[in-house]
Amino acid sequence: MRLSTITNWAYGATVLLTLASGTTMLFASGAEQRERAAVAQRASFDQLTSTLEEDVYRLTEQARGYVISGDPSHLVVYRREKEALRSVEDRIRHLKDAGANENELNALRQAIQWSDALSDEQDVAIKAAQSGDDKTARTILFGDEYGRELDRVAAQVGRFQYMLDHRTDTAVQGATDSARQWRTMSEIMLGVTALLFLCVLYFVLKQRILHPVVRLSDVVTRLAAQDFAAIPPDFPQVDEIGDMAQAIRIFRENGLERQRLEQERDVDRTMRDLLSRMTQRLQGCDSTADLVEVVRRFTPEITPDFPGRLYIHDIRRNMMLQACDWLDPKQSRNDFPASACWALRRGQVHKPRGGMVDIACEHLEGETAVPTICIPLAAQGESIGLLYFEQTREMDAEHLDRAEKYLEMLAENIGLALANLRLRDALREMAMADALTGLPNRRHFDAMFEALVDEAERNHAPLACLMVDIDHFKRFNDSYGHDAGDAVLRAVGAVLGDSLREQGFAFRLGGEEFVLLMPGFTLEQALARSAQIQQRIRDLRVEHRGQELGPITASFGLAAWPDHGAVTRLVTTADAALLRAKGEGRDQIMVATAREGLLPG
Ligand code: GH3
Ligand code: MG
Ligand code: MG
Repeated sequence: MRLSTITNWAYGATVLLTLASGTTMLFASGAEQRERAAVAQRASFDQLTSTLEEDVYRLTEQARGYVISGDPSHLVVYRREKEALRSVEDRIRHLKDAGANENELNALRQAIQWSDALSDEQDVAIKAAQSGDDKTARTILFGDEYGRELDRVAAQVGRFQYMLDHRTDTAVQGATDSARQWRTMSEIMLGVTALLFLCVLYFVLKQRILHPVVRLSDVVTRLAAQDFAAIPPDFPQVDEIGDMAQAIRIFRENGLERQRLEQERDVDRTMRDLLSRMTQRLQGCDSTADLVEVVRRFTPEITPDFPGRLYIHDIRRNMMLQACDWLDPKQSRNDFPASACWALRRGQVHKPRGGMVDIACEHLEGETAVPTICIPLAAQGESIGLLYFEQTREMDAEHLDRAEKYLEMLAENIGLALANLRLRDALREMAMADALTGLPNRRHFDAMFEALVDEAERNHAPLACLMVDIDHFKRFNDSYGHDAGDAVLRAVGAVLGDSLREQGFAFRLGGEEFVLLMPGFTLEQALARSAQIQQRIRDLRVEHRGQELGPITASFGLAAWPDHGAVTRLVTTADAALLRAKGEGRDQIMVATAREGLLPG
């Protein structure tokens, strides 16, 4: 019930009780009036009856005075007073009007009749005295008979008075009692009204206002101090306090929502900071290994709920190879062909989820079937890698959307960095490679030779160097044109590049000169391989514009370490041997001599 309703009811009850106590007060005042009226009535009766008795005695006195003294003044007074006496009916009417009942009036009538009889006797006595018969007159007025009649009148008046007194006493007593009762009742009513008022005040103030307000104030204080663990009391009553509690509840919910948004904003800011730092580090990466290390360190911080792997496309094997992983992913293989992933096939994010029909990638294996997300890393329309994630924690749609946004931003940054590295590698390779034959050029040779020399010396492993120069190459140019010469160079370069596979390195030093570095090859092994190469060059058949170019041969100078002096002079020594091969008729392999190893380079 609302406080205003309770207050209205209490006001209503108080007004009713006040009216009731007012009414009882009116009744009490009426009873007092009746009491006063009864007292006044008795006084009026007393006066009337005492007048009656006095009249009888006064007339008797005057009549007796005249009889004894013969003084006519007594007679004058007697006659005047008798004249002044009211008639019997008049007196009775007065008494009746004053409230005397029939019994009392009968008693009075009797007294008046007896007094009238006395008056008649007084008249008789006065007449007798006037006629000179004083004796008779005295006998009448002073006789025992007259005295008894006088006493009888007095006794009758006394009786009448007694009856009146008795009745009026009862009436006065009744009126007094009634007045006292009404007064008591009105006092009780006032007391009850006051009590009710106090009770309502107590209930409304203490139970319905003070207690709830104290509790609400405690909660408000805690909420103001950002303590949202404070739960507003759930007051079921529909009143102002209930409205306040409801308002505080809404305030708390708003506060919680604001706090949640602030936390999300903080997390968002932290994520963006991490992403930006990671991007800066990625831009500074010099190699794929650097990039992988950055990804391995940053990704679990940015996506703590998503274990995953980074795959990089290996062009030569056309496979996706795992470069690193984080947070122990369970489901994806370490390497797989690009066609095994739907994200790579379609060039779009692939995230098969429960609830929607979808197809899982073939590279997934393992027992736990958690939702997965594959994000392709692409550059110029070509897939260069893949970011793979597993979702280990249940999330609502909103959180998942936000997390996926981060994953995609992450993939974009990593993809861009990987593409940049690839581009840089390609440019570097282009700078190190010969455009015509595809073989590494002299710059690459210099770097590689230095590295292989170091390695050979460190490992005390043999190292062989074979210098190759096409015989009379100028003739191809001269006879068939420059393009034909290029075709011969490409063909010879292909033979040399293919001749060593993973066991050594072939370089084009310039013009029609090539060099082969064979780490781990002894002189004998190198010589045998040189003979094979010689034969394959001899066997070459190169056509240009439908015309077969003449036979191709080359001269070879072979030097090996430790057979032919200092390892650092290996190229010079092999060159000297090649010169000898040219000098001695070409199309032959000349092994360096110890002396050549000592020649100044
Ligand atoms: P030798 O048997 O003594 O080695 O004689 P050669 O003709 O092979 O040697 P020479 O040094 O006299 O001639 C090399 C020629 O190769 C000179 C140059 O015009 C030609 N040449 C150099 N680079 C290229 C190239 O990239 N393409 C073509 N078609 N010719 C080139
Ligand atoms: Mg030459
Ligand atoms: Mg030549």
